[in-house]
Amino acid sequence: MKPLLTDYTLAELEDLFGQLGEPAFRARQVYGFLQKGLDFEGMANIGKALREKLEANAAAQGASICKTLVSPLDGTEKYLFALRDGNIVEGVFMRYHYGNTLCISTQVGCRMGCAFCASTLEGCVRDLSPGEMLSEVLTVDALHRQGDKRGVTNVVLMGSGEPLDNYANVLKFLRLLSAPEGICISLRNVSLSTCGLVDGIDRLAEENLGLTLSISLHAPTNEQRSALMPVNRRWPLEQLLPACKRYEQRTGRRIVFEYALIEGKNTDLRDAERLAALVRGLRCHVNLIPVNLVKERGLHPPKQAGIEAFEQRLKELHVSVTRRREMGDDIGGACGQLRRSHLEQSAKNGSPTP
Ligand code: SAH
Repeated sequence: MKPLLTDYTLAELEDLFGQLGEPAFRARQVYGFLQKGLDFEGMANIGKALREKLEANAAAQGASICKTLVSPLDGTEKYLFALRDGNIVEGVFMRYHYGNTLCISTQVGCRMGCAFCASTLEGCVRDLSPGEMLSEVLTVDALHRQGDKRGVTNVVLMGSGEPLDNYANVLKFLRLLSAPEGICISLRNVSLSTCGLVDGIDRLAEENLGLTLSISLHAPTNEQRSALMPVNRRWPLEQLLPACKRYEQRTGRRIVFEYALIEGKNTDLRDAERLAALVRGLRCHVNLIPVNLVKERGLHPPKQAGIEAFEQRLKELHVSVTRRREMGDDIGGACGQLRRSHLEQSAKNGSPTP
């Protein structure tokens, strides 16, 4: 496959242009256009001959929006991104008072096997490259930009895939995303969510990037967590929590714990008490999420009263906790659900599935 230009830093692009016999200022121009989410045909100022030469040797963007769903309730937008090889990943755009957050995917599918997650049902197809992740951001930013006002201000790595299972590419993506000469999104405005790969958490702590680390915790005991998340057998709680502590101490950033409430699995008030005991002494915040129904798995969220009681118990035990605002529920739910329904549809229509 042709090289993807959004995979390159500006310096690397200048080198590449040098190899193609083009001056560095051309590389800077093209880099500027790429950062605006443009493909070769949108690159005004670049002569036709050079555009054709580039097109013959490289691809500009690594992801393009092939379907958009807009929530009539809260304006949340969900996208299906087509990658160059025909694979599909998804993203979600949410408007908050502090800015616009884009949730991006880091892999096609996922190999982690969490019981409640639609992304993992068919395993991991492949990793996304740094430029593919960047193109998710650049195309959506271009869609929502108003003059100088950026369309995407915050990025969360919470779409399909396990970011720490695609470590090197995710790290380069974060460098591209925050490059001063690029779209320049501060890593303070970025959250990376992991199911708990302890070796990756320790590596990330050493990079000290200033981003927020979210841990998908979802259960307060090994027995419950291993039943929901196979990764817990490899990295059980007695290894995960110390890694969180190390991360917090190394970076000075508090950890965010994601806790999806699943009726009958982790919603007892004793679970709230165990959770409070587990995170005691750690600077952290707990996000409660009523689980999004994944019909293949038969898992349900608790009733409203159950959610409130769980939250209340955590508050009584002095845990910093909020319930995550559920956005875009009406347009195809969480993590992998949109891509999945697209794949099911393609299968029904007999068209080749990516
Ligand atoms: N692999 C990473 C990031 C992707 S998942 C991780 O595990 O954190 C992003 C978040 O959505 C995770 O917290 C994940 O556990 C959660 N999630 C997945 N399926 C869900 C569902 N059906 N309901 C609620 N949250 C879900």
